[in-house]
Formats: sequence, structure tokens, C-alpha cells
Amino acid sequence: MKISAVKGMKDVLPTAQGEDAPFNSRIWERILNAGREVLSRYGFELIHTPVLEESRLFARAVGEETDIVGKEMYAFEDRGGKVLALRPENTAGAVRAYVEQGLPMRDPVQRWWYFGPMFRRERPQRHRYRQFFQLGVESFGVAAPEEDVEILALARDLIEAVGLVGVELRVNSLGDEACRPGYLEVLRAYLEERRDRLCADCQRRIDRNPLRALDCKEPGCVEATRDAPASHEHLCDPCRQHFDRVLAGAAAMEIPYVLDARLVRGLDYYTRTAFEMTAQALGTGQQTAVCGGGRYDGLVKLLGGPPTPAIGFAMGVERIATLLAEAGGVPAASADLFLAFADPRGLEAAQRLARQARGRGLRTEMDLRGGKVSKQLGRADRRGARFAVVLGELEVQAGRARLKEMATGQETEVALDALVEEVWKRR
Ligand code: ATP
Ligand code: MG
Repeated sequence: MKISAVKGMKDVLPTAQGEDAPFNSRIWERILNAGREVLSRYGFELIHTPVLEESRLFARAVGEETDIVGKEMYAFEDRGGKVLALRPENTAGAVRAYVEQGLPMRDPVQRWWYFGPMFRRERPQRHRYRQFFQLGVESFGVAAPEEDVEILALARDLIEAVGLVGVELRVNSLGDEACRPGYLEVLRAYLEERRDRLCADCQRRIDRNPLRALDCKEPGCVEATRDAPASHEHLCDPCRQHFDRVLAGAAAMEIPYVLDARLVRGLDYYTRTAFEMTAQALGTGQQTAVCGGGRYDGLVKLLGGPPTPAIGFAMGVERIATLLAEAGGVPAASADLFLAFADPRGLEAAQRLARQARGRGLRTEMDLRGGKVSKQLGRADRRGARFAVVLGELEVQAGRARLKEMATGQETEVALDALVEEVWKRR
């Protein structure tokens, strides 16, 4: 019996290529390694929250009226009757944990990052999967606009570190509970005047969630709302000052951005600063969002904590991997040293040397199936080994072997007890 993976959910493997190149785990490792490095420089620490949470957490945090919760969530009744959901995003879980641990009072300033799978029952297509990974950050406890600037700088540095080029940062301010209601009234009146030009979804949104109409991809709706009132032009004084300082800070830090009045984000919890990073896909020339984020100053309180400012973002790992694969293909395997052996004495020596080399930090491989030396060396080649050495009775007795540089075929004789150091120097 052959069983396939669930539709819209992918395996990430070192062998993935061609159409599956975005799921090549060597690309993922690059993203993760580069990301980890940058995140630690900014003082962010790794968290893991459960993949399953109570469904009402997402209904509360993300919003009942959003597509994510209303249409796309995998929710089910657990034995015992509790309704659980596979997390569609990680901010709600992070805030739940932050409040549950009493951190708002105990240690409110936290900088967290995560890397893990999210689940949304969307129509599977290019750039859109039902299980997809996000690398994201959450910064709690700092209301100052300079924190927004730090987060924008971090997002920019992450994108650069993973090697994506041509990524555009778009920012907007959605206001807060003081000025957003007034803006929504203005927007509602504007949409109402154009009701019959909007799609059925947007007609419903006029009452329930008018912001979302600005996010609609239907050409008719885009056209009808071209000159819609902009939230960043309806801010109260504190929100206005906050946003001005964010934009001035970004400019001072040389973080290029464009102001985008249509940027509203698909989740209800955002306040004030919201942003997205988009990249041009090579194949289609279409814009794809690789990162989305913003401030969510009301969410900690909404989930039962005291009022606490916070800001974060999430990057789509598959989308980044797709763009990297399009630009640079799938990376080949690579190792520093391959140890081949001709006989049992050689095998013993290879094992010892491998241990030593790995202890020194060299990526070292063998083919413990043994067999013909030429075959072992063929594998050394396929594994992208920089150097290879063949060990046997003779080499062990002489205490010397020939170290071969795979790319040039050039061989140098080295003492076995100096071999690891020699490879380390020349790697
Ligand atoms: P989009 O507008 O593309 O649907 P979104 O606003 O729903 O994105 P967020 O919830 O902000 O996305 O998630 C942050 C990032 O996660 C997105 O910018 C994108 O890169 C990625 N992402 C979101 N949904 C998917 C998906 N179904 N498959 C792959 N990546 C996704
Ligand atoms: Mg979406």
C-alpha cells in the first residue's frame, strides 16, 4: 500500500529538486543558519509553543471575521469535547504563553523568535501551502517607535542575510482604538457609496470588517477603492507622532521603504505600524509577500494580561526558499573530508581519523558499506568532498597516506597524525 503526503503539505528533503526545489532542506538550512545568526545579534531568543491550541485562542486573537479563522483553520473536537486547532500563525500562541507565565508583571521586555509549521486550509497553489513554515519574532514590552525601527532593521537584515535581493518594504499605520473607529466610519461611508461595484465578500465586509476590503485582490474591488481614504491620514495625534518617528527612524537608519495606504494585513490584532516585505518572483514577475508584521499593542490585554505593547513579524520560509532556488538553484552537498578504506585495518584507521576530524570541526564522511575504493571515491565526489584519502594496511603501517584534493586531483603525502590539521588548514 502506498500512501501519499496530505495535499498542500510538503516533505522537506536534501534530495528535493526541480519543481520541489523550494523544499530542498539544504536551502532551508541556509535560511535557518543565517537567520539564527542575525537574531542572536539582536538579542532574540528561541521559543517553541505547541502546534495545537484551543481554537478560541485564534478566534479571539486573529479575529472571527478573518479568512484565517473563518475559512482556513483546521479545528476539531478533541476527546473530552474541547475544540482544538492547528495553529494558523504563532503570535497568538506566543502571547498566550507570555500571559500564562505572568511575564507582563515579572519580566515584561522579551524578545523571542520561532521557526515552525503553521496550518491554513487554503487552496493549494504556488506560494500557498496548507502546512507552511514561518520564521518569526515577537518583541514584548516596548512601546517606543524606536522599537518599530529596530524590528524593521531586523527584518531587513534577515532578508539580506538569507540572500534575497530586490525585496521591498511597505509600511502603513492602522491607528489605535482612539482613531481607528473614526477612520472605519469614513471608510465605511466611502465603501457604501460604491457598494454595487464590490464583490460579494467585500459587500459583507462593509459592515463587519471594512479594512479588509482594501486587501481584496478582485480587480473590480481594487479599481473601485483606488482613491479610498488612507488610515495613515486619519491618525490621532499620538499615533501620528508615533508613525512619524518610525518613518524618520527608518530613514535615518537607511532602511528603504514605501508608504502603502492599502496595506491593512489579514489579521485583526494589528495596531499602529503594519508592514510587509514583497519580492518579485522570477517566473511570473508577480509580487509575493515574504514577510508580514506589525504592532499589536492590544493583544496581550485581549488575551487576559495587562495592557502591554508588542510588535512582531513572520516570514514565509517556503516563499523565501522558492525565490532563492529560482535565483541560485539547489546547493550541492559539501563536505571537507572523505575517508575511504581498502581493508579492515584501513577501516579502523578511518573511524579513528573521522572521530578526530569531526572533533576538530571538519565535516567528515565515509561510506561504511565499504566495497570497491573507486566506488567509495565516487561517493566522495557526489558528496562534494573537498579532500579524500584512501586508507589501508600499507598506509597504516607507514603512518602516511596520500591526501587528494578532489577538484584538482592533486595529491600530497601526509603523516596520518598530521592529516586532520592539514585538511583544517587547507579547507
Ligand atoms: P498572503 O497575503 O500572501 O496570503 P498573509 O497576509 O496571509 O499572506 P501572514 O499571515 O502575514 O500572511 O504570514 C506571514 C508570511 O507567511 C506571509 O508573508 C507569507 O510569506 C507566509 N505565508 C502565509 N500564508 C502562507 C501559505 N499558505 N503558504 C506559504 N506561505 C504562507
Ligand atoms: Mg493569507
